[in-house]
Amino acid sequence: MSAPLIDPFQRAINYLRVSVTDRCDFRCVYCMSENMTFLPKKELLSLEELDRMCSTFVGLGVEKLRITGGEPLVRRDIMTFFGAMSRHLDSGALKELTLTTNGSQLERFAEQLHAAGVRRVNVSLDTLDEKKFADITRWGRLPQVLRGVDAAQKAGLRVKINAVALKGFNEDELISITEWCADRDIDLTWIEVMPMGDIGNEDRLGQYWKLSDLRTRLAEHYTLTELAERTGGPARYVRLEETGQKIGFITPLTHNFCESCNRVRLTCTGELYMCLGQEDMADLRAPLRNFPNDPAPLQEAIRSAIARKPKGHDFDYSRQSVDGRVTRHMSHTGG
Ligand code: SAM
Ligand code: SF4
Repeated sequence: MSAPLIDPFQRAINYLRVSVTDRCDFRCVYCMSENMTFLPKKELLSLEELDRMCSTFVGLGVEKLRITGGEPLVRRDIMTFFGAMSRHLDSGALKELTLTTNGSQLERFAEQLHAAGVRRVNVSLDTLDEKKFADITRWGRLPQVLRGVDAAQKAGLRVKINAVALKGFNEDELISITEWCADRDIDLTWIEVMPMGDIGNEDRLGQYWKLSDLRTRLAEHYTLTELAERTGGPARYVRLEETGQKIGFITPLTHNFCESCNRVRLTCTGELYMCLGQEDMADLRAPLRNFPNDPAPLQEAIRSAIARKPKGHDFDYSRQSVDGRVTRHMSHTGG
């Protein structure tokens, strides 16, 4: 058994997020510009390469794999990859295989995901208003996503909704979204909008709705009990006593929880980002492609990348400007 991955700040890295495509069937205004240039297909890791890459990480102690994108379920034959990863669940090496999706393809894939061993899915949904949904996603259709959520629940997948808190956009839906989730026994996490990538004319500061404010408003309607639960990630949780549901807050801007970070992110081209909010990355595609039959160079490249994982990100809106911005889109690194 090889030594686990430990970074310079003594954080154990056991969580890999993998972007399997930079493409998407939506164009959410805070994530992408309307006219995106996507990577040529040959730049992408093939499904077989993704398998070898993820399996190497699992061999180095990664226990949780989250598949994301772009929209992971628009990648052709992606179920083959999920099916392949399920062998690591069967062996016990992997504790969780999961995904973050916009939900548009869930109706089609929910049962296959469950068959591959997926038990939980994060669905991104910022509004329950059809017109607003079409505006924010530009290309998305709400009923299709809601059918996807239903299909996921029916297939036995536990659903969590991730909603980006957007000023003047979903502030008025705070209670209705909470109730909708409570009625369906769905968990809900709110995310602060992060300064990632050029998104055309959209205004980052104008979009920013502080979660401290959201939480205060929630507390006007419900009794909030702080939960000690930590997932090693940036989310903090409360329970609403009236409904019993769990609400998460991901607050990269108002609080930064980098000290407990246990994750790294792989792009669809095989770049490893050690921090979502920093530019440094390691090219893992070269050792993967150059040594198809020898895992040692890839393992070495992974270890030396983890050895330079930074302490944290530098996102900051506090000076009334967007500081610490990174040029990559969230869809590139995988949210
Ligand atoms: N397409 C999938 C989806 O939407 O769930 C997976 C990829 S998407 C990049 C992952 C998450 O990142 C989504 O929940 C999305 O809302 C979030 N996201 C995208 N851009 C963001 C930004 N600038 N700030 C905060 N969250 C963002
Ligand atoms: Fe696509 Fe997800 Fe980005 Fe929306 S947030 S454009 S669904 S990748």
